[in-house]
Amino acid sequence: QAKADAGGFAVFVPEMHEGLVARMRLEADLRKALTDDQFIVHYQPMVSMRTGEITGVEALVRWQHPERGLVPPNEFIPLAEATGLIRPLGLWVLRESCRQAVTWAAAGDSRRGLKLSVNVSARQLQQDDLVEQVAGILRETGLPAQRLTLEMTESVLLEKGEETLATLTALRDLGIRLAIDDFGTGYSSLSYLHSFPVDILKIDRSFVERLSTGGDTALISTILRLGQTMKLETVAEGIEHPQELLLLRRQGCTTGQGYHFSPPVPAARIEELLAEASP
Ligand code: C2E
Ligand code: CA
Ligand code: CA
Ligand code: CA
Repeated sequence: QAKADAGGFAVFVPEMHEGLVARMRLEADLRKALTDDQFIVHYQPMVSMRTGEITGVEALVRWQHPERGLVPPNEFIPLAEATGLIRPLGLWVLRESCRQAVTWAAAGDSRRGLKLSVNVSARQLQQDDLVEQVAGILRETGLPAQRLTLEMTESVLLEKGEETLATLTALRDLGIRLAIDDFGTGYSSLSYLHSFPVDILKIDRSFVERLSTGGDTALISTILRLGQTMKLETVAEGIEHPQELLLLRRQGCTTGQGYHFSPPVPAARIEELLAEASP
């Protein structure tokens, strides 16, 4: 493509090249963001469908970019995964959120330790020392392993079967719980549910949406029944309407998450929400 520069000359700037430059700049910015402490963690409440109490939070990373403001994860996680930066970033998120979660255990005594869920990418599960790193962070922060859940997508479970199985088993032996994120969006074969040590099914938002928009809801009923049969906890994400909550509760979904309860918020706001709940 030809573009006119300031002097009026046509300069050849292929789109490919522009894309590459933008990507390289973003990558350099990401590296700098790690050393400059530009990431922050927001937390979204996870609520018991039975009691309405906040029983846990999901840690969701954001980038406080000096010029662009608060950048959502969808705009930098894919590149962090492609470059391998997700490993140091993922460990940072884990350490930061564990440190935070420990203080919430002490906050409200009715809450015998708020649970913490942290997202883990495929690339991190292939990290040789992941289990030691996670164990080290639990030791260092003092968060009991029983309060930590690691969320991963189905695709993770289908790569490199043996090695993944060994890693997941070792994580679970520490006492950590494992959740399948975006459940139902990935693969048609569910056989991996029998071979991997899974504790929680996290139902993708796209299925929850259909409960209030008149779409097909057979799949969500099936997932909830599957969860009950396999004695797994079921978490519905993206609950926005009371009607969705009602239907999910009626069908035995154990935990809910979504804007209906609260969007992801800074740590200080979680403290306020916990205080409001236990006066
Ligand atoms: P996810 O793990 O599926 O997280 C749920 C996303 O849905 C979050 O977006 C959350 O803000 C959004 N959400 C929650 N409730 C509602 C709702 O009621 N309505 C709607 N429309 N959206 C809702 P967010 O924070 O932008 O994160 C996007 C994705 O980025 C996450 O999807 C996760 O895959 C990834 N991500 C975020 N933090 C991390 C991290 O620390 N590590 C890794 N590996 N991935 C992360
Ligand atoms: Ca998640
Ligand atoms: Ca999702
Ligand atoms: Ca996701």
